[in-house]
Amino acid sequence: MKSVNHWINGAPVDGDGTRTAEIFNPATGEVAGHVALASAADVDAAVAAAVAAFPAWRDASLTKRAQVLFRFRELMYAHRDELAGLISAEHGKVHSDALGEVARGLEVVEFACGIPHLLKGGFSEGVSTRVDAYSMRQPLGVVAGITPFNFPAMVPMWMFPIAIACGNAFVLKPSERDPSASLLMARLWQEAGLPDGVFGVVQGDKEAVDRLLEHPDVRGVSFVGSTPIAEYVYETGTAHGKRVQALGGAKNHMLVLPDADLDLVADSAVSAGFGSAGERCMAISVVLAVDPIGDELVQKIVERVDKLVLGPGDDPKSEMGPLVTRAHRDKVASYLDLGVEEGAKLVVDGRTAAVLGGGTAAGTPGFWLGPTVLDHVPVGSRTHTDEIFGPVLSIVRVSSYQEGLGVINGGLYGNGTAIFTNDGGAARRFQNEVEVGMIGINVPIPVPMAFYSFGGWKSSLFGDTHVHGTEGVHFYTRGKVVTSRWLDPSHGGVNLGFPTNG
Ligand code: NAD
Repeated sequence: MKSVNHWINGAPVDGDGTRTAEIFNPATGEVAGHVALASAADVDAAVAAAVAAFPAWRDASLTKRAQVLFRFRELMYAHRDELAGLISAEHGKVHSDALGEVARGLEVVEFACGIPHLLKGGFSEGVSTRVDAYSMRQPLGVVAGITPFNFPAMVPMWMFPIAIACGNAFVLKPSERDPSASLLMARLWQEAGLPDGVFGVVQGDKEAVDRLLEHPDVRGVSFVGSTPIAEYVYETGTAHGKRVQALGGAKNHMLVLPDADLDLVADSAVSAGFGSAGERCMAISVVLAVDPIGDELVQKIVERVDKLVLGPGDDPKSEMGPLVTRAHRDKVASYLDLGVEEGAKLVVDGRTAAVLGGGTAAGTPGFWLGPTVLDHVPVGSRTHTDEIFGPVLSIVRVSSYQEGLGVINGGLYGNGTAIFTNDGGAARRFQNEVEVGMIGINVPIPVPMAFYSFGGWKSSLFGDTHVHGTEGVHFYTRGKVVTSRWLDPSHGGVNLGFPTNG
């Protein structure tokens, strides 16, 4: 039984220890350990350590900060297998997928290694006679990150490399469902030479989140999770005077025009729908098939789904693992019956899928549900609009591009979407007309590279700044503009007029 605790001021800390939560092995359903749930006093201790560490880290030269980031990058790369193993054991995703999330997180570290360039300000010589102006960006102080279960390494890495590179101190509150990756990352920061207190981890739940949102010394909060909590975090954090970026849930549609290559479409829909058991905020959960290709496309999707291998994350033969908890598995599975009640046709029933080394998904201990396909899902039904966040792919039939676009733009969320077509004009129209933050053209999971910024529209983002890329640098810094004149013999004396350029 493992016991996962906090990381405060450069050391593991048990905290007040009065509350804990269970950590599961999702493949067996067994309890694998316990995680401490921070009290407000534990959060206060982590923030106090960050407050104390901040001034010296802020004043460390850009070169020194960049060197720590380079060392952290090398250590994370060297430990990527260990990190992926921790993720897979607690989340359930297969090892290769966990390695993929580490790689995508590392891209943000690599981007943040360029911080000396990213923090360059502007300089205008002679904005007025013998007056110069220049801009600079400075860190906020202590900032916090609150992250979801589905990417226990990558999502924190969307945040802390940039926050720390900018000169802030960072307190991470990871998901209590898969907390171990955060502690390995904390140890690697220390090994990389990051001063104690600049990176802290408080494990916990609502109690820890609420204290971070209210704490007067926390200046900014980055959140990624479900929409109701994102909205709550945004409202509570901003009401306490903090800058907040809160990324929420998603329901991502893939619009397939009749001229698309249907083999590419079927490969992409299955990969993007069932990778990580559909527990990705950029998963494709709805395929909008424009007439007349629906029947042919469904047949191609089913052929591929039938070959998917369901099994434990640490078995190299597995392509898809279990869901994260029993409660989540049962909630996802409830949509199979609901979908049929709402008028959809259950084409592939994930409850009957075989699990490597076991029986069927429904009959094997552990949180199993195989890939499921629902066809003819009615627009506006709960199966269509709810974020199911599991291996359930809905096919919605539409008669035209325009109808498909209307379905996407009529939805609550605006995280990701994709169009599949060989018509460049249609794709260009789509990228302009669709009300979604991240768009793929013949690319099913268009997660932007680290040097662009990640974020959705509508109920997928509260706040205005997306994460990582230059928007991340902006979020974790405040701007200043200096207007400067050095006296010289031409100094003209008192002038009460409003300063204008002369
Ligand atoms: P969640 O909202 O349940 O939890 C996210 C974080 O909030 C966790 O750290 C959790 O401890 C905390 N939390 C939970 N309930 C809380 C409460 N009542 N008060 C305060 N804090 C609370 O999300 P999850 O189930 O861990 O993750 C899945 C969700 O995250 C999905 O909706 C998914 O779409 C979303 N997600 C979005 C993105 C994105 O970029 N938009 C990326 C990854 C995941």
